[in-house]
Amino acid sequence: MKETAQAAPALAGAAAYTRPAARLLPSPTPESRAFWTGGRDGKLLIYRCRGCGHFLHPPGPACWRCRSTDVGPEAVSGRATVAAVTVNRQPWVPGLPPPYAVAMVELADEPDVRLVTNVVGVAPEEVRVGMEVEVFFEPWTPEGGSADDRIWLPLFRPVAAAGGTDGAW
Ligand SMILES: [Zn+2]
Repeated sequence: MKETAQAAPALAGAAAYTRPAARLLPSPTPESRAFWTGGRDGKLLIYRCRGCGHFLHPPGPACWRCRSTDVGPEAVSGRATVAAVTVNRQPWVPGLPPPYAVAMVELADEPDVRLVTNVVGVAPEEVRVGMEVEVFFEPWTPEGGSADDRIWLPLFRPVAAAGGTDGAW
């Protein structure tokens, strides 16, 4: 028997997103930990070079542009644009039922920074290149892990599906 999840009211054109039973989880490194845990505070943390001001991803010990080692995580807006998308129809991950959209998104703060993510809250086949999306976070604790191992997966959804409450900026 399956429990019926209470879906959030869907907006026109939006598809209700239901958290899957499982996801492939990353193993954070000292440098990527901020990226995977910034969602605890609702922040998408991307490494930024204080030498040249550019963001870089994946995080590393030095800026690939100017070689500065003065790099560290900083919050970005969380807005992005879909640069490429494919719809996965294979049940690769037990507990993560297809179809779902796997997209490469370019951050509004730094289009050179591209993340591979899922775009949800919209039918997978309706995700388009050029679509404006924004980040939200899904907390997960790895199997056998403790609260300290918790990570916040950055996922994206169409900006219009967010409820239009962003007048406070
Ligand atoms: Zn730099």
